[in-house]
Amino acid sequence: MVLLTNIVYFTFLGGYLSGAVSGLVTILYTFFRYMEPQQLFVYSDTNIGRIIVIAISIPLMVCIVGYLKQDLMDKNKELEKANEDLRKLSITDPLTHIHNRRYFDEVFYDEFIRAKRLNIPIALAIIDIDFFKEYNDLYGHIAGDKGLRNVAQSLKKNVKRTGDFAARYGGDEFAVVLPNTGKEGAAVVCGRILNSIRDLRIHHKASAFGILTISIGIAVCYDFENLVSENLFHLADQALYKAKEKGRNRYSY
Ligand code: GH3
Ligand code: MG
Repeated sequence: MVLLTNIVYFTFLGGYLSGAVSGLVTILYTFFRYMEPQQLFVYSDTNIGRIIVIAISIPLMVCIVGYLKQDLMDKNKELEKANEDLRKLSITDPLTHIHNRRYFDEVFYDEFIRAKRLNIPIALAIIDIDFFKEYNDLYGHIAGDKGLRNVAQSLKKNVKRTGDFAARYGGDEFAVVLPNTGKEGAAVVCGRILNSIRDLRIHHKASAFGILTISIGIAVCYDFENLVSENLFHLADQALYKAKEKGRNRYSY
C-alpha cells in the first residue's frame, strides 16, 4: 500500500518519468524483498507468478495515472485559456479593439489610488471626434466606424509607457490615462495624438478643417487631498468642452 501511494504521489508530482522511476524501484524492491538473492535466476513457479503480476500491473498503473494527470493538466490549460479569452473580451471594445469603458472604470480608479499612495501626478485626457455626427450623416455609418477604428489605433500607438492606456469611453469619445505624468508631459502626448489624427488625412467635407480632427480635454492631479477620481474626470470633461468652444482640433486644460 505504501509503495502504491509512492507511485501515485511521484506520478502526480513529476509526471511520467518520476512515476516510471518509482515503478522501477518498486519492482526491484519486490525482487529483493520477496526473493533470496540466490533465487533470483532460479526458476520457481511461485516466484515467476508474482513477478509477472508485478511487472505488468505496476507499469500499467503508472501509465494510467500519468495519462489521467496529463488529461487533467490539458483540461486545466484549456479552462485557463477560456477564462483569459473571456476576460479579454469583457474589457475590449468590439468595434475598435482597444480597451472599453469597463476597463477604463476599473483601471483608471486603480491608477488614481496608486498615484495617490505614491504621491505622483496622474493625467487624464478625454478625446472627442469633431463634427462626427456630420461625418456619419455624410459618409455613412460604415465609414464612421472605420473612422472610429483609425482614431482608436492612433491613440493606442501614442500611449506606450508602462501604465499608460487608451480606452473607448463610448460613442465618439475616448480616454487616455497617463500615470506619473504632469501637465507638460500630458501636453506632449496630446500634441502627438492630435498630429497623428491629422496625419491620417481622413476627408471630412462638413468640417471646417476639411479632414477628421479631434478635441482633447486634459486634467492633471497633483494634490490628492481634495480630489477623487470622479473629480479628475469631471475636470477633463470641462477642459474638453473648452477645447470645443475655442474652435476644436486642439487640446485644452
Ligand atoms: P462635436 O464636434 O461637438 O463633438 O460634434 P459631434 O458631431 O461629434 O457631436 P457628438 O460628439 O455629440 O457626436 C457623436 C456622434 O458619434 C453621434 C453618432 O453619429 C456618432 N457615433 C457614436 N457612436 C458611433 C458608432 O459606434 N459608430 C458610428 N459610426 N458613429 C457613432
Ligand atoms: Mg464628437
